[in-house]
Amino acid sequence: MNYVGTRGFAGDKTFAGALLDGLAPDGGLYVPAEWPTPGFDLAGDYGTLTENLLTLFGVDVLGTDAVKAAAARTKAAFLNDGKVPLTQLADNLWMLELWHGPTLAFKDMAMQMMAPLTDAALKQRNETLTLVTATSGDTGAAAVRAFAGSERVRLVVFHPLGRVSPVQRLQMTTVQADNVMNVGVEGDFDDCQAIVKALLGDAGLKQNGLISSVNSINWGRLLGQVPYYLAAAAASGADTPDFVVPTGNFGDAFAGWVARRIGGNVGPLHAAVNQNDALNQAINEGRYIRRQAVESASVSMDVQAPSNFERLVFEASGRNAATTKALFDTFGATGAVTLSPDLQSALKAEVTASTVSEEETAQAIAHAWKAYGQVICPHTAVSLSAALKRGSDRPQIVLSTAHAAKFPDFVTRALGFAPKVPDAIQALYGLPEKIVELKNDRTAALDLVKGFSA
Ligand SMILES: *Cc1c(COP(=O)(O)O)cnc(C)c1O
Repeated sequence: MNYVGTRGFAGDKTFAGALLDGLAPDGGLYVPAEWPTPGFDLAGDYGTLTENLLTLFGVDVLGTDAVKAAAARTKAAFLNDGKVPLTQLADNLWMLELWHGPTLAFKDMAMQMMAPLTDAALKQRNETLTLVTATSGDTGAAAVRAFAGSERVRLVVFHPLGRVSPVQRLQMTTVQADNVMNVGVEGDFDDCQAIVKALLGDAGLKQNGLISSVNSINWGRLLGQVPYYLAAAAASGADTPDFVVPTGNFGDAFAGWVARRIGGNVGPLHAAVNQNDALNQAINEGRYIRRQAVESASVSMDVQAPSNFERLVFEASGRNAATTKALFDTFGATGAVTLSPDLQSALKAEVTASTVSEEETAQAIAHAWKAYGQVICPHTAVSLSAALKRGSDRPQIVLSTAHAAKFPDFVTRALGFAPKVPDAIQALYGLPEKIVELKNDRTAALDLVKGFSA
């Protein structure tokens, strides 16, 4: 299994190459050269399923020990008391809790898997690497926890200063490992993402083989999110259930797309976005426009240029790299593109989308408590609200992506009482924090990363 780029790169990259590069040499994203057909049970034990999936996608170039270690870590982050954390809320409605890992958010699944794979790939090449990532909160926390103490990886995390929740910040900044640096940028998440893109494109850093990303542009991360779609569908007992996915960078939703593409028991996908709804406008109105991101209750979804939309465009266009390149070149240069009617309807056939307002988010939190006795986070509320609006004609699985206590202010206002704080979060308050503050300035960011990697 080799990997190609969405903008025309057709070299023979292995999984290890795609993992360590992050971005493809054509400036696009890596995708498998072709979609493989699994010859194994897609509904079996989570650890075995994950090992088989990793092998199917060529991760075994890193050796079977690395595959087993990665599967074990992601399984530990997923299961709750040894069980698939799926709860039936009503007829035709289930919720999958993806926050039983170390930072209480779904990004743990991908990151817990990615850390041992990255270490294995670097060991194989006898190299070290600086990983940079932009985070709206949860990615950074999950990455810091997963990579802290790694001998071959230095990790630099850029977050929008003051725009992540206190718990998200503490989960990053209270880690004292020498190989981790937290940077608070005076800007929004898209500014952080632009800094990371600039760093990844820097010829000097790249030439030294120094730099890569753990953002969801990285194929290695997406793979960690495929198995839970299959496990949830199996546990629900439903035939091709719809999945309603709270969406920011479209990484989680694209993993669901992969689960369906390889023949899993996965029905239509619905991307639920907050008021930062560039993705919804692209799919429903055919215009993809970059706007300034605004702060929402579901802060980890405050994304206006969702990076994995490129993978979806590539697939919906029939894997047409020229179309994909033209679209994203124009988007990069002007911040606005009109999709052809053909492309728009092809996109709609793959994924539907809707926008959920802040008020609807609060209402869904209140409803989840009243109707189902569940305390949910704002991201989960966005997907629940979208699912309820869609109706109950088909079985739907709502993804619950974080523990409510990570976002206490909004949840408390919506519920009238504070979510219970798990011990793991309580223990972070008062610990010393490690953070570097930075102006929204790419040159300064470059100097910082060069200094840290030296
Ligand atoms: C990152 C995140 C999302 C959005 O996931 P994408 O893969 O970026 O679409 C949703 N909910 C939570 C809690 C997150 O941390």
